[in-house]
Amino acid sequence: MLTVADIVKIIEELAPPGLAVPQDPIGLQSGSGQWEIERLMIALDADHRTIRQAADAGAGMLVSHHPLIYGPLASIDPESPVGRAVAYSLEFKVAVYCAHTNLDAAKNGINNSLAVLLGLADLTALAGRTPENFKIVVFVPVNSLDEVRTAAFEAGAGKIGAYTRCSFASSGIGTFMGSEDTDPAVGSPGRFEEASELRLEMIANSDVLDSVIDVIRGVHPYEEPAIDIYSLHGSGMGEGIGIIGSLPEETTVEKLANTLIDLFETGSVTVVGEKGRKIQRVAICSGSGASLVGTASAGGADAYLTGDMKYHDARQADELDLPVIDFGHFAPERYGMKEFGKTLNTALKKTGAEIEIFYAQEEDPFKVITRA
Ligand SMILES: [Zn+2]
Repeated sequence: MLTVADIVKIIEELAPPGLAVPQDPIGLQSGSGQWEIERLMIALDADHRTIRQAADAGAGMLVSHHPLIYGPLASIDPESPVGRAVAYSLEFKVAVYCAHTNLDAAKNGINNSLAVLLGLADLTALAGRTPENFKIVVFVPVNSLDEVRTAAFEAGAGKIGAYTRCSFASSGIGTFMGSEDTDPAVGSPGRFEEASELRLEMIANSDVLDSVIDVIRGVHPYEEPAIDIYSLHGSGMGEGIGIIGSLPEETTVEKLANTLIDLFETGSVTVVGEKGRKIQRVAICSGSGASLVGTASAGGADAYLTGDMKYHDARQADELDLPVIDFGHFAPERYGMKEFGKTLNTALKKTGAEIEIFYAQEEDPFKVITRA
């Protein structure tokens, strides 16, 4: 039997939390990691309706895309929408886990499944990959500073923007006492030693961190160099939100708009730009992707598919001469969650556990009224 915590681990292998944008409240938001799970429900939104549906289906876990709790709560009022959902989660023992922007950016995530649906090829991340930064602190004897620092720089440490070989060193007194089995570079085994040392600090990103640590260990004169690694919070954005790729053949904005209306059964989409414009390279960001209009244009997209476009976003797209198809927020993301349910099902089956997956019944809060 798998617990909520076991399933969280599997989900986070598919959608690593490090891919989420900073401050996005992803993860287990309500319930216990120790609860045992036989059935699980997938939903776009975590609210009292989907939690209740999960409970009625005998599911002990709801995996949603949108978080149940967006900001810090000062109180939980069961009469408020969020409070009611939390109360249901605890009363009916339905753990709520949300995979939000980490699932937007993940290799098997929502934007990727939309790209597959449209048959896009030559896929790359739309917003580009920004690896996370770390601060490395290493304590070196004064006469080894140059060797350690140079080796670390050559392995990729010390880059800040357009500057390379950035570091800082401050002096101090290190102490140590090696056992009789040691062979210290300074002093003798079994004796308390004091040595003038430098505290050398530099930045390294996640792409080069391991090799920088390896070379420091390789050239450092001490048997046991003291190396501290600090994560610089919020320094990276993970693998990049959104996706860009090429349609199998050239089409027009209007034809692609009609394809999207058919695929998602939305009845309509909203378009910015000329309907007859020929397009092939398409950028996609499900949900509210209006802030990436400029990125899509700079990334060479002929058209951009996203949701929640506002008036001034449309004006910006117009100025950039980038056609945009607003295909709504609900339908493309719900499709993406259904596809994620299949991916999760495959991953769960590999563990040998029998977990049944259900999908919540949800409706787009927006309705299109066509003149009667
Ligand atoms: Zn969304």
